[in-house]
Amino acid sequence: MFQFAIHSVGLFKPVLFQLRLIGACSVLGLCGWSLAACIMDVARQAKKMHSIPCTKCRFFTGDYRLKCTANPSIANTEQAIHCGDYQETSNS
Ligand code: SF4
Repeated sequence: MFQFAIHSVGLFKPVLFQLRLIGACSVLGLCGWSLAACIMDVARQAKKMHSIPCTKCRFFTGDYRLKCTANPSIANTEQAIHCGDYQETSNS
């Protein structure tokens, strides 16, 4: 009886190995997918931040105390992406 139990465990070793391999591959796949999603999210956010036009606007002061003389509350924020008061500087 005892030898039969040991023999049975020996038969399941390849199956257990395959299950562990599938589990490890699943975890690695999820980590890779999560990393790729994180990188895509950072790239999307960086692209959005680069579309803020304030640094090229004539109303932008470059002073942190008053960033913009026209709309200081939205200067250098995502709300300024479609700012109606945007005027490109003439010296660029
Ligand atoms: S006027 Fe609009 S685009 Fe220009 S600096 Fe102010 S918030 Fe930015």
